[in-house]
Amino acid sequence: MELNCPKCEHELDRSGELKRHCESCNSDFKLFIACHECGDEIERLKACGAVSFWCNSCNELKSKSSAIYTLKDD
Ligand SMILES: [Zn+2]
Ligand SMILES: [Zn+2]
Repeated sequence: MELNCPKCEHELDRSGELKRHCESCNSDFKLFIACHECGDEIERLKACGAVSFWCNSCNELKSKSSAIYTLKDD
């Protein structure tokens, strides 16, 4: 999954599990992953090397592709 900087459109570097950095404008962002159905933040679950997502509000597993990724200023 590639994300671009909301400020300058430069491709972001991965600087941590849920962190992205733009070297073009030197900004740091936090990745917020939300449920596409209820909009609440969903939890990342790591099991057997695979990552899946769990929504506490819907009380069910969500697929990675359905999740909504939002960047927030860190
Ligand atoms: Zn930038
Ligand atoms: Zn949900």
